[in-house]
Amino acid sequence: MSMEAGTQMLNGLLVAEAIKQGVAARVSELGQRGVRPGLAVVLVGENPASKVYVGSKVRTCQALGLFSEKIELAAETTTEELLAVIDHLNGRDEIDGILVQLPLPPQIEARLILEAIDPAKDVDGFHAVNVGRMVRGEDSLVPCTPAGVIEMLDHYQIPLAGANAVVIGRSDIVGKPMAMLLLHRHATVTICHSRTRDLAEVSRRADIVIAAIGRTAMVNGDYIKDGAVVVDVGINKVSTADDVRRIFTDEEIPTRLEELGRRGYTLVGDVGPRSVIGRAGWFSPVPGGVGPLTIAMLMKNTLRAAEARRGRTM
Ligand code: NDP
Repeated sequence: MSMEAGTQMLNGLLVAEAIKQGVAARVSELGQRGVRPGLAVVLVGENPASKVYVGSKVRTCQALGLFSEKIELAAETTTEELLAVIDHLNGRDEIDGILVQLPLPPQIEARLILEAIDPAKDVDGFHAVNVGRMVRGEDSLVPCTPAGVIEMLDHYQIPLAGANAVVIGRSDIVGKPMAMLLLHRHATVTICHSRTRDLAEVSRRADIVIAAIGRTAMVNGDYIKDGAVVVDVGINKVSTADDVRRIFTDEEIPTRLEELGRRGYTLVGDVGPRSVIGRAGWFSPVPGGVGPLTIAMLMKNTLRAAEARRGRTM
């Protein structure tokens, strides 16, 4: 048996597909009653990565039968101008979800914008009302990436109750809500960050490690207990052949080098597959792990917002 045989892959694409199919079926049911859930995606400026994300969110809406609207604003848009756009979207009945693509240009006060979105339409789950409800364990719109991670763990029937979970990263978007969702599922949660002492040693105690750091392949085999579940949220670019050979498994190196030659980079997460595959019990790859789930959960949140706003008995 090869070393790799010990690690099973958490296939985010497969889980995302199942979630999207469920959403499409419900959207079609609602359609028969004349209701079409709608998502507005607001993009400010020319950030290339943001453009790609917004494009795929809109395309996924179209594929699942949701109404979608892309609102593109100039990079020099002011906070007041963006607030007026949000206000208008809050008032439109056919819009169930409002997503403002982050990051926003520096002149815009992002916090004011996120707080201006009607909490009932806050499909990213970043509004203080939704954050507060989530912390209290009440029904709320939950941030898509950590919600997607929970769906993936559930899909593979990874036991959460009583498990030692280590979340590396404490952002409002991923780390903090991730920790809270695991806590609600009765995991014993440790939140780590840039000031954590002996991070590898803390992480090695975990049954479940969630890496949401933004540091290329930082989490290596030393961080992982044999058989642990490793979920990689990170999205980073690798752009040299030496790094490819250092980070990826022998099996993956040829396709990664080919991709590097073709595109100038290949994607990797915060976890280094070379030293973690073979040691972990489960591992979510990049790409094809958490990424596809984020968009699937955005669709699910938009559907939930539509059902809640328009009444379940439509
Ligand atoms: P942030 O930059 O907001 O947060 C990163 C966190 O990691 C911080 O809490 C920071 O600690 C911590 N950190 C940074 N360096 C270290 C270190 N050396 N040791 C320990 N902790 C460290 O990032 P996000 O949470 O927004 O995103 C994290 C990653 O996930 C990124 O790669 C991002 O691209 C990716 N991402 C992927 C998504 C997906 O759909 N798959 C969606 C969203 C994000 P401190 O607080 O002390 O600074």
